[in-house]
Order: sequence, then C-alpha cells, then structure tokens
Amino acid sequence: SGLVNIVGGCCGTTPEHIRVIRKSLENTPTRKVPGHSDLCRLSGLEPITLSRQSNFVNVGERTNVTGSKRFETLILNEDYDTAISVALDQVEGGAQIIDVNMDEGMLDSASAMTRFLNLIAAEPDIARVPVMVDSSKWSVIEAGLKCIQGKGIVNSISLKEGEEQFLEQARLVKRYGAAVVVMAFDETGQADTYERKIEICERAYKLLTEVAGLPPQDIIFDPNIFAVATGIAEHNEYGKAFIDATAWIKQNLPHAKVSGGVSNLSFSFRGNNALREAMHSVFLYHAIKAGMDMAIVNAGKLPVYEDIDPVLREAIEDVIFNHREDAGEKLLELATTIVSEEKDEKAVLAWREEPVEKRLAHSLVHGIDEFIVEDTQEAYEHLGSAIKVIEGPLMDGMNIVGDLFGSGKMFLPQVVKSARVMKRSVAHLEPYILATAGEEQKSAGTIVLATAKGDVHDIGKNIVGVVLSCNGYRVVDLGVMVPSSKILQAVKDENADIIGISGLITPSLDEMVHVASELEREGFDLPLLIGGATTSRVHTAVKIEEQYSGPTIYVPDASRSVGVASRLLGDEADAYKSDVRSEYEQVREQRLKKDTVRNILSLEQARKNRPRIDWSGFTGIAPAFTGIRVFDDFDLEALVERFDWSPFFRSWDLSGKFPKILDDDVVGESASELYKDARAMLETIISEKWITPKAVIGFWPANTVGEDIEIYTDENRETVLTTLHTLRQQLEQRREGKANYALADFIAPKEIGRADWIGGFAVTAGHEVEPRVARYKEEHDDYRAIMLAALADRFAEAFAECMHEKVRKEFWGYASDEDLSNDDLIKEQYRGIRPAPGYPACPDHTEKDALFELLDATNATGISLTESRAMLPAASVSGLYFSHPESRYFAVGKIADDQLIDYAERKGWSFEEARRWLSPVLAS
Ligand code: SAH
Repeated sequence: SGLVNIVGGCCGTTPEHIRVIRKSLENTPTRKVPGHSDLCRLSGLEPITLSRQSNFVNVGERTNVTGSKRFETLILNEDYDTAISVALDQVEGGAQIIDVNMDEGMLDSASAMTRFLNLIAAEPDIARVPVMVDSSKWSVIEAGLKCIQGKGIVNSISLKEGEEQFLEQARLVKRYGAAVVVMAFDETGQADTYERKIEICERAYKLLTEVAGLPPQDIIFDPNIFAVATGIAEHNEYGKAFIDATAWIKQNLPHAKVSGGVSNLSFSFRGNNALREAMHSVFLYHAIKAGMDMAIVNAGKLPVYEDIDPVLREAIEDVIFNHREDAGEKLLELATTIVSEEKDEKAVLAWREEPVEKRLAHSLVHGIDEFIVEDTQEAYEHLGSAIKVIEGPLMDGMNIVGDLFGSGKMFLPQVVKSARVMKRSVAHLEPYILATAGEEQKSAGTIVLATAKGDVHDIGKNIVGVVLSCNGYRVVDLGVMVPSSKILQAVKDENADIIGISGLITPSLDEMVHVASELEREGFDLPLLIGGATTSRVHTAVKIEEQYSGPTIYVPDASRSVGVASRLLGDEADAYKSDVRSEYEQVREQRLKKDTVRNILSLEQARKNRPRIDWSGFTGIAPAFTGIRVFDDFDLEALVERFDWSPFFRSWDLSGKFPKILDDDVVGESASELYKDARAMLETIISEKWITPKAVIGFWPANTVGEDIEIYTDENRETVLTTLHTLRQQLEQRREGKANYALADFIAPKEIGRADWIGGFAVTAGHEVEPRVARYKEEHDDYRAIMLAALADRFAEAFAECMHEKVRKEFWGYASDEDLSNDDLIKEQYRGIRPAPGYPACPDHTEKDALFELLDATNATGISLTESRAMLPAASVSGLYFSHPESRYFAVGKIADDQLIDYAERKGWSFEEARRWLSPVLAS
C-alpha cells in the first residue's frame, strides 16, 4: 500500500518524487524490469503481440464513418449506443484490433473521436482490444491518442508533407507510446509501383529509426493496395506490386510490419460482394505468405481460400499477379455468374431477376447505370427496334420518374441521375437508330434553350435541359453567350415549339427584352420561357411580355419547367396561356400601385440624408502593402472548410439551410445523397488537383468626393489613378432616422484631409473546370457535369471568403485578432464588406472595368469580362474591400432621372448609355 500512496500523490510530482518512485520500484525485489523486445506489442486491456509465429491479425473496419454508411449514420445521428454495439460486433466477430475513423465533413471529428473512444473504454468486452486511431487529420489522431488506454496504433503518417512534419508526428507517436501505420506516400504522391513502394518505405524506415528513434517493430508499413481490373492497363500491376513490396520490406527492413486496406483491391466490382470477398481472400492468402502481418478487413465475411471454386480462384490469381492481359475481362465475365450467398444482398439484387422492362424502369427510377447497357441491349433484341425500346420501356420508366417528381417524392438531383441512365441507354441505341433511318422518334416537343448574350451562367439552364429531355422533349441547347440572331435562327431551323432563355446578371434582363422584341419583329408567336437568378415575374410581366405578343412566362425554378412546357403544348394550352396573361396583367397593375406608395427623393434630398459618419476622430488604417499581389494557387482543402453549402443545394432546387437540410423531413434523403456524391467528387478534385485557384488583391490610397471614390497613384494623393462611381439610395426610407446610403460614404471624404484606403479583389476557381464539364456532357453524364460546375462555384465563393479573411487579419490587418467560425463568416459577422459590382449596393456592372484595370485582373488571374461584364470562367468572384466599421451591405433600389443624369456625367456616358446599363434600377 506504500506504493499506492506514492503513486496516488502523483499530481504534485516533482523530479525528486519521480526519483523516489523509481527507486522504490527498483528496490522491490520481486519485480523484474522488463527488457526490450523485438516484438510489436500492442494492448487494450489485454496484450497482443505480433510476431512471426503469431497468426495474421485482422483489424475491424466497421467503426469507420468513411467506410461504413451505417456507422456514419449512427454517428451523425449521435446514436452512440448503437455505434458501440458495432464495435462490439466487430470484436465478437474476431477483430483483434478495431479501427476507429470519424473523418466526415459534417462532424467535429476530434470530439466525435474523443466521445466514442471514451465510451468504448467503459466496455470491457470492447476495450480489451487495442484501438487503431484512424484519421487524415493529425489533430484528430492526437485527440484519439489522449483517450486510449494500453498501446494503440496511429493510422497513419506519411512523407506526403515532407520530412519535418513526418518526424514531428513520429516523435509524438513515440511520446504517446503507440505503434504507427506509415503510408507509402511521399512529397510527390502515392507509391504505385514496386520500385516506388520500396524506395519510400526504406526512406521512411531510416528516418523513423535513425532520426526519430522509433523502435522498428512499432512501424507498420502500408504499401497501398489499389484497385485492379479497372480496365486501365497501368493498374494491372497493383496487386503484384503490393505483394512483392511486402516481401521486400520483410526481408530488408528488420522487425517492421506490413498492413493494408484490402477492400480497395476489388473496387471495380462494387455491387458484387461475393466476388469481392473471394478476391480479398485470395489476395490475403498470397500477401500473408509474403509476410503481411495485418489487414483492415471485414474478417467475418471472408471465404476460406480452399473453398473458393478453383476456376474462379485461378481467374482471381491471374488478375492479382497480372498473368495475362485479358485477366480483368475474364474475371468480369465470370463475375456475372457468381451469385452472392448473402441473403440481404440477394434481396438487393432481386430486381435483377425481373423481366427486362422492369429492370430498365428500376435502373431509371433509382439512377443506377451499372446494368443499363446490358439491359438496353437485351430489350433491343427482344423488341427488335431501338425506337420501340425508347418509346416503350424507357419512356415508361421515365414516366414513373416524372410522376414521383411531380408528386414531390423525387427531387432534381435524382431526376438528373435518372436522366443520365436514360441518356446512356439512348446512346447505346443510337447506332441502331441510324441504321434504320426512316423510323421517326416521337417527341413531346422541341425546346430551344440558351443563356443570354453576354452571360455565362448555365447551371440552372442545364438542369432545365436535362429535366425536359428526360420527359420526352427534344432539347436544343445553344450554350452560353447566345446572341438573339442565333436563337431566332435555331427556332426556325429546329422548328421549335418553345424557347427558353436564362441569365444570371442584370444586363441579361435587357438582352431578354431585346430577344422578345426581335421575336415580335419577325412575327413569331411561340412561347418564350424566362428563367435565371435576376429574372422575376415582375420583370417578365412588366418589361418582357410588353414587347412580345406570344406567351411569355417566368419559370422560377427548374422543377417547374416540365409542368409549364407540358401545359403550353397540351390540350388546354389556350386556357393556360390566357390565365398567365391575365395574371401578368395584374402584376403590372399592382406594381403601378406599389410604386406610388414609396416616395422617391430628389438626389439632393437623398444626399442630405446620407449616413452621418463621424470622421472627426478618424485615422485610416494603412494596409500592409499598396498595389497588387497575385496568388497563383491555394490549398483546396482549406477552401472546402470555408464552403457555404446552402447555395449549393439551392442550385439543385433543394432549399434549406445546411446542415439542417440533410435531416429535412421532405428533402433530407435527397440532399444527403447529393451531399455524399458531392463529397466524393471533392475528394477526387482535391487528390487529383483538378482546380488551381487564382486570385489578385490590391489596396490603394483613396478618398471620397460626393458619390465618387478617387483612387490615387501614391500617398501624396495628388494624382488620381482612377475613379470608382457609386450610386445613392433615393427611395424615401421607411424607417425614421435611416440614412440613404452610397458605398462612397464608407471612405473618408477628401475635404477633411485624412488618409484612407480601399481594396479590391478578383478570384477564380474555374479555369480547368470547363473542359472537364464538357467531357462529362459528352459522356452523357450531366449529373457530374452539373455537380462539378456547382462545386467550382463553391470553390470560388469560398476563395473570396478566405482571401477576405486574410485581408482583414493580415494584408489590411485591421482585425488581426478576429476569430470567427465558418458559420460566423457566412453570416458576415466581421468588420468590413466586400461588395461586388452588379450586386445591390453597386448595380452598375461596368464598374468591373475600373476594378479589373486596377488589379490587372485579366493578366493576373485569366478572368475576362464579356460585353455584359459577366466574368469568364463563370466560377469567379470580384469586388471591393471596405474596412470602415460602419460599412454594410444595402440595396441601392430605384433611382430617379436626376441621379441618372448626374451619374452619366460622372461616367462620361450619354444619357442613353446610362439608361441601358442602369435599367434594372430606374424608377421610370
Ligand atoms: N456565402 C455566400 C455568399 C453569397 S453573396 C456564397 O457562398 O454563395 C456573395 C457576395 O455578394 C458577397 O460576399 C458580396 O461580395 C456580394 N454581396 C452581397 N450582398 C451585396 C450587396 N448588397 N451589395 C454588393 N455586394 C453584395
């Protein structure tokens, strides 16, 4: 009990105390100080030793949110009780170690890791085995290491970020007393060949043992198991490379261990679990022979090597050892004959037993494209005509999709997935259609779609196109920046039944008015659909419909397009058209009334009511530099952390705030699936670096004169480099005491003689995106095409957010101690604003000209401006930085002719030019 007392008093231990404890231990005659051992010893509550003689160790993989959908759902729903039972099942199923991974974007991974490990520590049946703390984030690993008892394993570290970080993490591993999995990665990437694998492992081994002082038996190499039989020739060697590297490591790196994640191997056979398990079993058989010590695998499911059908076994071995060029194809052929013995999987694939029409419908409704080609072929052989397949089972299937969509049981992302299946099926049938010319395919109608001249945004339009085409319409998509002449020509050439024009920026509104008047001039009367971010029912009724005697209809979101089109072309079309017409008549009347309600001030009155900012005690904060600075690249992962996801869902017509939307009663399931697909694509975007973000920011000395902001060449503030022009709110404020704002109000006025500054930025994430989007479209994969474009937009917005944060904290530095969460940033809870030309506080898009010149933006970032001043590539953002604490976003709202004249003069515009650019904000 003396010892207990000493240890119990540990809290206040000094080196002296420790010496006493040591001494008392040494003096205990019955206790032998254990010597060092070459064996890798791990422990939970119970020890486990890895040695040549010990059997192969399997690591349970089900307590991993990235690998198990079920576990992910449990953790996201905070159902930790059930999550614990997953761990227990693993141990009871024979796992000798459990891998725990909480890497999921929605989670605070470190706290989920802590919570889960603390909970299982209290379950002796689980806690008896060691834990493998698995994360790609070091902070999460460290959180885990702080919780586990005994000696666990870190999964993983690698040379990916260079030697320094690698060694630092290795030293921490040692301090925490863990073993460590070392991935065969280095600064140039992952090791895929035998040579690269052994080169990296040898280098890591030297560093770990000689520099970091890690015992070699605590090093567990994972030389990367990659998917084989993918159809890509370079991948054929992957299996053999791993096995050979394993043998080499065991011979050349004394005491080191080898592990691997086996399920990757069979990735190309997703959906056929029986085959996958057989592959895992065969692979393990050979890898263990070569010396593999442990593997992350669902051990309970592996068939015994000897029990596997010898023909299949040989086919698998041919693939794993790359014995023959056609090994992959051979196995694929065999794969179709293997029926899973698992009961629940049988249920999953039971639909495959149905007649071909039902299978096609099933694939369409569930968006599964795995079997679509073989089923299409079968249907073709059965019906003897490609057109019959399309108009029969395919249309039947799409009708089910349409009904589900119409009744709110399916949402746009799923419909777009269905469309992908449909398109792939039709693409397969195309050669047959061409061969039997003469057979005409029926269509519900032809629709010409275009994004307005000068505009480049097309996510919404593309969704509309997909939805219409999978509802039987023939869609002729003219793309972006389409002049009216081209639209009119296409209407004639294609014998169109409907036109749809889309646009995002305000100048497109005018362009739509122009198209309408051109249609009128040429005597057309087909329906014109209007859609896109700045369009509205009011604008359509007031400005566009007035120009055109054909039906003109505003379509608020892509989901409505099918309903509108079918009514326009259906039996009751006339009634529908006249309904819309009288509805828009009312809109116009109401607007007239509304306009008289709110008073418009004279420019002079509005100026008098400008915000009273007290400049008397003002000292401007000088930025860290003036002029511009270019950023050629940026860490994509850091950008993902700054994503504002809600607009992403909105672009798919799923409304709701993220992350709540994932649990929404109505759209939750659809949103979660979309989110999962988005996350998967993000992983590829990041790991294959599909995007190179580019940015330029700048700061300049500036002062205000009226509503103009003068930018000076230098601190003497004598020579004006350029002038930015802002507009003042002119509508009488509804609330007493509220000012009439102009952006210029947030910069110190010239006349008070105090130095102030303004900043500007342009960022893009769109350069490499467009060719990939085009390729997806060629592959009939609109789902991915739209997904990638929508994610690129997110990257651009997040980049703007990240740069702004850096500006506040560092480059301008007026908020160096700011510490806000991503949520706070989305809610704009920081000092200063970054208004963008074309948005409500500065509705004049042409202000981008001066901004781009100041920033030399086109040279610096490759962003160019169209004639309507849309930015190309579309995934770009630009704007100004204001630092004044009172600066805020507002909407200029309507302005009167007096300000229009004043502004035209300041800009050096004719009155007509001013009217054209500012038409969306003109009161009259
Ligand atoms: N977090 C959102 C931001 C959308 S608003 C997203 O990721 O999509 C995007 C930008 O529009 C703002 O950052 C700002 O630059 C600009 N903005 C917003 N309101 C504005 C206003 N009233 N006037 C001028 N610019 C505005």
